[in-house]
Amino acid sequence: ATGCVPAFEGFDRIFGLETEYGVSVTGAGRPVDAGDVAMRMFRPIVSRSRSTNTYLTNGSRLYLDVGSHPEYATAEARDPMGALEQDLAGEQVMARLASQAQHDLREASGGANGETSRETLAVHVYKNNADSAGHSFGCHENYLVRRYVPLEQVEHELLPFLITRQLYTGAGRVTDDGFEITQRADFLDEAVSSATTRARPMVNTRDEPHADPDAYRRLHVIIGDSNRSQWATWMKLAVTHLVLCVIEESARLGVPSGFDAFTLADPGEANRAVSRDLTCRTARLRLAHPLDGSGDDADVDGGTADGAATGDDGTITALDIQYRYLAIVERFIADHDAAMRAALPDGVLTRILDEWHAVLDALRDGERDRIADRVDWAAKLRLFEALHARAGRVPQTRLAQLDMDYHDIASGTLYESMLRRGAIRRLADDATVECALREPPADTRAALRGRFVAAALAAGAKFSCDWTRLTLTSPEHREAVILDPFGSEPTDDCRRLMAALD
Ligand code: ATP
Ligand code: MG
Ligand code: MG
Repeated sequence: ATGCVPAFEGFDRIFGLETEYGVSVTGAGRPVDAGDVAMRMFRPIVSRSRSTNTYLTNGSRLYLDVGSHPEYATAEARDPMGALEQDLAGEQVMARLASQAQHDLREASGGANGETSRETLAVHVYKNNADSAGHSFGCHENYLVRRYVPLEQVEHELLPFLITRQLYTGAGRVTDDGFEITQRADFLDEAVSSATTRARPMVNTRDEPHADPDAYRRLHVIIGDSNRSQWATWMKLAVTHLVLCVIEESARLGVPSGFDAFTLADPGEANRAVSRDLTCRTARLRLAHPLDGSGDDADVDGGTADGAATGDDGTITALDIQYRYLAIVERFIADHDAAMRAALPDGVLTRILDEWHAVLDALRDGERDRIADRVDWAAKLRLFEALHARAGRVPQTRLAQLDMDYHDIASGTLYESMLRRGAIRRLADDATVECALREPPADTRAALRGRFVAAALAAGAKFSCDWTRLTLTSPEHREAVILDPFGSEPTDDCRRLMAALD
């Protein structure tokens, strides 16, 4: 090693999820503008904070930009389960705002249709990524990574993983004439395939670390779907974390990670192909460079989709890419076992690997139903097949309605009933989510932010926040910088700030 290898700092990570929601109203007897509904939902927020952009006592950010897509960004969490719990709290926040708005709109509805709309008017809040008008909106994953990781390496080595990960994180979408595994492949493809126009890249390269910029980057992944399945939300963060650990360590030491072999010739095309191949085993993705068959790839686990999953023609299946990432990750963990375990709560590392194997094996065996209790797109397909079996061919428009209902966290019934029946796995119970609505993760700076917001609200003070700063504007002006996302212990500035609220 040369003298300039950065010191090893462990594999600790910060996770955050931003979710944009779509809103609409039905049963009002007249068209209601989505932007108006969103503003209606935010009335209680505006009257509390005089703004549509605010931080909550659980450390999260709730806001409404121009337009009609309310967004909830979770407080910083140290592990995927913490982030999941915060994201579910976000669903509850939106559901409650929607319920209030629905009540108000019903009260206000008068005129010819007044009586009926008082009963039928419903506010819908969709945790999905595309509306019927063809607009797409996002679910962003945020990962703290060490600054020494070059962005080009992230792009080359993470992208094949992110694109093929959709096999088990895709939320599924009913299209005009069929069904796709992901919500956004059609919206993302153009921008990705062209390296120059990065209007909608899969990984956002804007450099806003919300932390010490010399030490960290914030990786901003925008290719993913919003998931209803708790397992899928947890799993996408968990597995991506493991892959990032390998990339970080390879960047620190300046050695190849092994992932570089899977750079895709055309990520946009690959993304579309993965999304459209419901068998998960047929579509072949073009690699930028044909694989070197003589290398140490041979010990890949016996898990490939079929004998010829990786042809000599420079193509590979999505499933095979996943198995190869898994093999590299497992080899890496064998060499870094203690440090990898230390970065997660007890038992979690083993669980992630078990889940990863199980989901890939089910897809390899062509047994999608085995994972219909945890993979959103598979859950939808199982439901549709049951409907077809019972009622004959169901029209596409009906399937599209069911699809929307599945994502409707305010007025939908489908997903909730699947959860109640145990048809979908539950990782966090209601009491845990209720707690996450009040409490930030205790082991990140979100704890400081949450305490500050709670105290400021209780004192009737004027305040504002961003991710790295807490500001009191009245009764007196005070500010505390919270630059370290891992730091949950109050700094002197924080203590002075809190003292001003006593
Ligand atoms: P935009 O909505 O315009 O994309 P943005 O990407 O800056 O803005 P926010 O919506 O404010 O993001 O959400 C930021 C997310 O990043 C939150 O979920 C937060 O928990 C997370 N986060 C904050 N600091 C860090 C960090 N240092 N590393 C990783 N994630 C972070
Ligand atoms: Mg955001
Ligand atoms: Mg964002």
